[in-house]
Amino acid sequence: MPYKDKQQQLQYWRDYRKKNRPKIALQEIARRENRRPAWDLYQRKYRETHKAKTSEYHKVYYHGHKPEKRAYGRVYKRLRRMKKLYGASPTHEANKKFITAVRSSPKVKCYYCAKEIPGIGAHIDHVFPICPRVFKDKRGDDSIGNLCVSCPDCNRRKSDLPIGIWIKQGQQILAL
Ligand SMILES: [Zn+2]
Repeated sequence: MPYKDKQQQLQYWRDYRKKNRPKIALQEIARRENRRPAWDLYQRKYRETHKAKTSEYHKVYYHGHKPEKRAYGRVYKRLRRMKKLYGASPTHEANKKFITAVRSSPKVKCYYCAKEIPGIGAHIDHVFPICPRVFKDKRGDDSIGNLCVSCPDCNRRKSDLPIGIWIKQGQQILAL
C-alpha cells in the first residue's frame, strides 16, 4: 500500500499496530531470541577487549547496590543449597517433602523477619514471584529452590514483589 500521503500511511501503521498487538509482541520476542546468540558473543568480546573498563564498572555498580547484591547472593546461595539437598532438578516430590516438613514441625522461622511461628500456620512463599508486578522477566517457578517459609504478615506485605524491591523497602532477609 504505497500511499502518496504520508499522514495516511502513518495512520495505517498506527491502526495496524493497535489491531495486531499480540502478534507484534510475539514477533518482537522471536526477533530478540534470534538476536541473542550474536548479542551474547558481542558482549563476551567486548568484555574481553575492555577488561579494565568493565571490571571498574562492576566495582562501582556493586558498591552502589550493595544491599541488593548481597541479598541476591544469599538467595542464590540458598537456591544452590536446596538443589544440593533435593537433587539437581527440583521435582514435585521434593516440594511435597518440603511442605510436609514445614507443616509437621512445631516451630519454623520466617525467612524474611526471623519470627518463630507454628509450622501449621506458616505460609509457603515464592522467593521470585510467579506473576510479578514489575521486572516481569524475573519470573519464578514452583521448583523447590524458589520456595521459602514465611509468616502470614510478611507474605501479605511482600505480595507479588520481587526480592530486590522488597529489600529496598527496608525489609531484612535472613542470612543462611
Ligand atoms: Zn515474617
